[in-house]
Amino acid sequence: MKVLLVDDTKTERLIISSFLEKMGHDVVTAENGKLAVALYHDEKPDLVLMDVIMPEMDGHEAARRMRHDENIWVPIMFLSGRVEPDDIFAGIEAGGDDYLTKPVDFRILEAKMVSMQRIAKMRRKLIDVSNELEIVNSELKKQANIDGLTGLANRRYLDKYLRVEIARSIRNKHQLAVILCDVDHFKKYNDTFGHLKGDDCLKAVAGALQSVCKRASDLVARYGGEEFAVVLPDTNIDEALKLAQAMCNAVSAMKYEHPESEHKVVTISLGVYSDEPDRTHDSVYMLEKADAALYKAKESGRNKVQVN
Ligand code: GH3
Ligand code: MG
Ligand code: MG
Repeated sequence: MKVLLVDDTKTERLIISSFLEKMGHDVVTAENGKLAVALYHDEKPDLVLMDVIMPEMDGHEAARRMRHDENIWVPIMFLSGRVEPDDIFAGIEAGGDDYLTKPVDFRILEAKMVSMQRIAKMRRKLIDVSNELEIVNSELKKQANIDGLTGLANRRYLDKYLRVEIARSIRNKHQLAVILCDVDHFKKYNDTFGHLKGDDCLKAVAGALQSVCKRASDLVARYGGEEFAVVLPDTNIDEALKLAQAMCNAVSAMKYEHPESEHKVVTISLGVYSDEPDRTHDSVYMLEKADAALYKAKESGRNKVQVN
């Protein structure tokens, strides 16, 4: 354990620290409460052994300051010649956990060190577990918003994002564009090459769509199955059409062979809608508009962009 030993008497510091070092502990020493508080934060000890009466700042005040940060907790044991019940009570109330009478009986100190070591070990375990939990939690939060196959945002996140962006566009009186994309004849692709190759193809399409969107506020999401949705804040219909055409080109340029398609390679159809939303435009409305445009794109030969 790393022990912070605080005592204004040099000989006490020497005797106790040499005893603790013999027990295998690392010892950092301070001669008053003020220095002890600074070392407590810098050295991050596992245990504080502290005299009560000291110049500059006494042990009780130092303990109170150490207890200020509720996220750190380290056992504090007072060393004192004053062991009346009221003294002990005041020490515990200031933030101490145990009391040891001076002059120190080394057998008792040894026993208490063993018990403190147990506490320090449990504390370290708790910190490790809570750190791990924090990592797992943030990973879970991320995964709740991400599509497992493509790594794009999922439908759940898309819905949230679109709602937020509609509200923002209403506030700022900005245009907001939505694009829906659907892979052409994808059932036949699966039938020809198998579902696994189909999955690979969807990943590649996701990458191609994403590569076209450059702004941090643009969101490409997996809408479901072989359909993707793109949200483009602050984007008018001309800009949205250009981006949609670039997406269409990026997918056909992958040249994923598709013998059953009239275009002989994997292609997508896209429906575009852009507007300055008002209160009557919710996310369902925007997506329905884009979907109607997508239907037109399918009807008029696929591998193309249509607008609503
Ligand atoms: P269209 O050009 O009219 O869109 O025809 P389509 O065959 O693409 O449309 P349809 O809706 O009939 O078929 C979609 C296919 O997409 C069927 C389904 O098996 C496949 N699909 C959906 N999700 C996945 C997936 O995660 N992986 C794979 N491999 N296939 C998927
Ligand atoms: Mg579909
Ligand atoms: Mg399709």
